[in-house]
Amino acid sequence: MSKVQMFRRFRFRGPAKYFAVLALACLPSGAASQNVDARLETVMQFFAGATVVSSPTVVECKLSGGTETACFSITFTDDPEGDTPGPWCPRNVDDGADAGGIWLQDGVVHDVDGAFIERLAEFYGDTNWQLHDPETGAVRFTGTLEACEAAARPNVDPAYQNHCVECLPEYMPDGASVTYVIPIDPGEPDQLSPTRTGSGVAYNGVRLDGPAPVDAILGAYTIAPFDDCGGHVNLHVGYHYHAVTECLNNGPEADVPEHGPQIGIAMDGYPIFKHLMADGLVPAELDQCNGHLGEDGTYHYHAGAAGSNAILGCLRAETGCTLNDPDAPCDATARRPGP
Ligand SMILES: [Zn+2]
Ligand SMILES: [Zn+2]
Repeated sequence: MSKVQMFRRFRFRGPAKYFAVLALACLPSGAASQNVDARLETVMQFFAGATVVSSPTVVECKLSGGTETACFSITFTDDPEGDTPGPWCPRNVDDGADAGGIWLQDGVVHDVDGAFIERLAEFYGDTNWQLHDPETGAVRFTGTLEACEAAARPNVDPAYQNHCVECLPEYMPDGASVTYVIPIDPGEPDQLSPTRTGSGVAYNGVRLDGPAPVDAILGAYTIAPFDDCGGHVNLHVGYHYHAVTECLNNGPEADVPEHGPQIGIAMDGYPIFKHLMADGLVPAELDQCNGHLGEDGTYHYHAGAAGSNAILGCLRAETGCTLNDPDAPCDATARRPGP
């Protein structure tokens, strides 16, 4: 029986002290196991407000660069805790901003109200845009699971060109969950990893995704708005964020001076903070992945500006996996490791 099988067989949900026993079996030294114990405790506290399906466990994992190491695995339902998702698409060009979500273009957050839908041809300088019926003002949107499936995919079904794409949380199968497998000890922040498995996970258990595939979306004359919290639904991971907005204001305070609450954990294990410092100033000397070393010498990220369509555009260390099957092994070098 491999260690991973052993961990699965004993899927403890109890206090952190049990994890230390598991960690001893997994890692070579007592000091390392204390680190694992502390890390799991921190992870559990960080996600205290999320809908956790199963508490963090230690699993073996193969990271994106091929390193085999110990990760924590934690599973959430696809429902966000707290905020109710939506709305996304306004129903008529007369509708105001409260009837729709937001769209991100060239670093700017635009309200998707009726007027925005009406002027898309002008906005994109292309007269093929026509998301509404010019006589009634009704907005064409994907109103069924089937329409969502056909329109919210890279090769949009031509039948749904010129539609506002919205998938509803209730389209997800009952009991859907997403599992995050993230290194216990982030590697040195000396690489550039793509956000193929997402940027990370927020304190409320919602996926912080990589950039939305805007070119594919716009190329089919569709928009797939985000709600005012920067999130929308796809059928693989449910509700997920492409922008960090004022909704993510209630994260746990972290022990990094002047950084305010921590909003998430990146897929390489490093913390993610808000775009701006607690005093509203821009963080100093960010690298190309929006990260830097704090005063205490530890590395962390700052989420991109809401309009940038990049919560994180890249990651500086090897990343773990997001999985639909909580018991699947994490091999982040696989061509398609997860949703
Ligand atoms: Zn998305
Ligand atoms: Zn910082």
